[in-house]
Amino acid sequence: MKLLFTQDNRSASTKRSTTNMRNQSHHDFRELSRIVLPALVAITLFIFSSFFLFIPKLEKGLLEQKKIMIKELVNSSYNMIHFMDREVSSGAYSLKDAQKIAIDHLREMKYGVDGKDYFWINDFSPLLVMHPYRPDLEGQNMSDFVDPAGTKVFMEFVKAVSKTGEGYVSYMWQWEDDKNKIIPKLSFVKEYKPWGWIIGTGVYLEDVKKEVALISRNLIVISVIILILVFLIAWYQIHQALNVLRMRQLAETKLLEYKDQLETKVKDRTAELSKANGELIHEVEHRQEVEEKLKILVTTDELTNTYNRRAFNNHMYTNMSRAKRYNEPLSVLMLDIDYFKNVNDSHGHDVGDLVLKSLAYAVKGSIRQEDIFARWGGEEFTVLLPQTGKDTALQLAERLRQTVAEHHFPKSLHITVSIGCTTFQNDDSFESFVKRADTALYQAKDSGRNIVEYN
Ligand code: GH3
Ligand code: MG
Ligand code: MG
Repeated sequence: MKLLFTQDNRSASTKRSTTNMRNQSHHDFRELSRIVLPALVAITLFIFSSFFLFIPKLEKGLLEQKKIMIKELVNSSYNMIHFMDREVSSGAYSLKDAQKIAIDHLREMKYGVDGKDYFWINDFSPLLVMHPYRPDLEGQNMSDFVDPAGTKVFMEFVKAVSKTGEGYVSYMWQWEDDKNKIIPKLSFVKEYKPWGWIIGTGVYLEDVKKEVALISRNLIVISVIILILVFLIAWYQIHQALNVLRMRQLAETKLLEYKDQLETKVKDRTAELSKANGELIHEVEHRQEVEEKLKILVTTDELTNTYNRRAFNNHMYTNMSRAKRYNEPLSVLMLDIDYFKNVNDSHGHDVGDLVLKSLAYAVKGSIRQEDIFARWGGEEFTVLLPQTGKDTALQLAERLRQTVAEHHFPKSLHITVSIGCTTFQNDDSFESFVKRADTALYQAKDSGRNIVEYN
């Protein structure tokens, strides 16, 4: 049966599905990587660019802004001083008064987050003209003033303005009004030539660093939030993907189960079918046997196991038409047991039956294979002799008569038969042919029995 799944097929299908599942999990891993990897790359890039590109750039930008700011502030102070200088020229103030006003004004001018960023003035000597947080140094020559790094700070101011009248200087200075805290500072200085002054203001690099640190902190907080969000989203997506994966595996397992069930069903059904098929074949064979038996029954005499009259008639018709067509000889013998009634009367009907059987046996052993031997009825028998003419028929009849007469019957009975013989004539009907044989038989009886007569 084609439908039958073999064990090999089954294991092949299981193997196939295992391979499928392996491919599946490989595929699912790729799916997950597809979700997680871009997120990780994006975050890494974000953090990398933030801390290695954005923050240094920001720091630089901030410093640049501050530099511009202090330059602008110094320029404003310069303008203010220039204004006072013009007042002197116009005679509104004496130089001394004007300078005092400018100094006082600049001393009070503060800016910055805490309002503690300031301006100072020194001259080219360099004497310190004004410093809001170091009034103790005002009027002193600062040429030998060095910062902790060894920079002659005021000499650097003088040097910075010597070329273009302005410039930036990096050095160490106290933190605003705190004398004890010396930190890096960047200042812009500009000369006011008519008065021989150098005006300056600066930024603490620490300020810039502080701002950057603040921004970095915010950036870190934002990064962490983004990171958490990305991981939450990735986690959700992975969760969903895993759910799909689990459902897929479940469906596959179910499918395999159904397949196995189906295979078992097909196997069972196939077994049932082949069993039914066997039974059917058996039934058919049985019927054929019965038919065969029926056919035999229909054509056989039960007692003597010879052809019955119906079978004999059929053979007669067939052989008569054959004899007619081919112009072949055909003869028939009619046998009747002599004084059979006496057997029944003296020994009983059962012994009579045994005699009939025994006679049939004896005759069958004596005739040719092609001869048709039948029970005509009662204790009468016929023998059809195909392709047999009168002489052979008479010889055969005589042989039969002798056989019976010499046969050992039950109860040592001596049984004889009278035989009528005739040969087929072309114009014979069934009745005329049989009738002639019958007449011959009666002639034999009349002639004293246990003889053969031809008609
Ligand atoms: P004949 O020599 O003139 O033929 O004398 P017969 O006694 O044989 O002739 P009859 O026709 O008077 O008797 C035939 C007997 O055969 C009658 C019947 O009881 C007996 N017979 C017919 N059929 C059977 C049978 O099947 N079994 C037995 N036991 N006897 C049968
Ligand atoms: Mg009779
Ligand atoms: Mg008789």
